[in-house]
Amino acid sequence: MQLPPSSCILDLMPLTLRVPRAATAADAEITSLAALLQNKRVVQALAALEQLSSWTTDQQILLTEIPAPTFQETARGEAVRKLFAAAGLRTRTDSAGNVIGERPGTSRKDVILISAHLDTVFPAGTCVKVQRDGRRLTAPGISDNGTGLAALVCLARALHVTKLRTHHTLLFAANPCEEGEGNLRGMRKLVETFRGRLRAVIAVDGAATDHITTMALASRRLEISLSGPGGHSWADFGMPNPVHALARGINIFLATSVPESPRTTFNVGVIQAGTSVNTIGNLAVVKVDMRSESGDELTRIAHALLAAIDQGVIAEMAAAAALGHSSDPRIEIRFRSIGDRPGGELAADSPLLQAVLQADRHLNNQSRFERSSTDANIPLSLGIPAIAVGGGGRSGGAHSLGEWYDPSGRELGVKRILLTALAVAGVEP
Ligand SMILES: [Zn+2]
Repeated sequence: MQLPPSSCILDLMPLTLRVPRAATAADAEITSLAALLQNKRVVQALAALEQLSSWTTDQQILLTEIPAPTFQETARGEAVRKLFAAAGLRTRTDSAGNVIGERPGTSRKDVILISAHLDTVFPAGTCVKVQRDGRRLTAPGISDNGTGLAALVCLARALHVTKLRTHHTLLFAANPCEEGEGNLRGMRKLVETFRGRLRAVIAVDGAATDHITTMALASRRLEISLSGPGGHSWADFGMPNPVHALARGINIFLATSVPESPRTTFNVGVIQAGTSVNTIGNLAVVKVDMRSESGDELTRIAHALLAAIDQGVIAEMAAAAALGHSSDPRIEIRFRSIGDRPGGELAADSPLLQAVLQADRHLNNQSRFERSSTDANIPLSLGIPAIAVGGGGRSGGAHSLGEWYDPSGRELGVKRILLTALAVAGVEP
């Protein structure tokens, strides 16, 4: 969208932030832990998760070593699809690139979605070879989200070998576009496809089992581009310079105050500008990430950013006029949303929450509720019960080249997901 040469960009900006709503409780109770453990196939499946431990680690390494930058997840997705098919799932890949493995329940109507994102933050060309040092595995993306994908294939295989039947359908999905500028495209498509049937969503992301993400952190990401005529640094000195205008605008924006509570943050993440040191560039681009626990604060901070850039342009034009360049064309401002993650919260009385807490009690796992920005944002924003949890094991250095994973304790993570999913799906004798 191109903007007219005036300072009315705020009026034009469609800041349509959805008000977070509490996810409503589903109509049915969960299956109690006692009832689950009375089913011999459930007990067998829990044992199978332990037996599959080293096989699961092998699959995690295999998948991690297939590069999967956001928007380039096809090859890794195909490898997951083969593993899903080998675990007896009915597989397909949708138009967004979601790899879906269906395990029909005795009642086909409702589905429980267990997802893990395929993509990593690392650009194409990054070395993703896994280095082993004892139990410690090091590679970009090994845990985020190698752990989540490994958990999915491990769970599918454990259910397959024990022939456990669930009441509701289980849907496993390896989805693209969770990271960076993917804007949760994969999860948006899954929710759109299964919307009327989704009983619960469990997004498996990373390793940690010490939290349950029940609150979705809302965020907005904007790209703002400033363009001008461009010229020579000496001969055209004083000409409106998009780089100078952007610098002025960012400087104004950085003075914006944000409350500690509701916690609100901003980050000028990327600046791309100019062509050479002795050129007045014709383009300057900035990408800004803004997050808040409050939708109102997020709206306020996004408006503050646009107003600040606008003021930066006005100041640059005034400086140019003072140097005799009053007839030069005005710097043009364009903006583009490159991310809009809606917020939401899981209801305290949600069966899904009761199910994961019941699993934690049984497994003696201490966990806390957390607010975060994950694939669970999309279902939570629509009132569909959803959580994000880790796949188990230990990890560190997420999003860095030194990212590592140690599978010690993985069993806790996968058992926790299994017991949670089965409690909401119901099991057949
Ligand atoms: Zn992740």
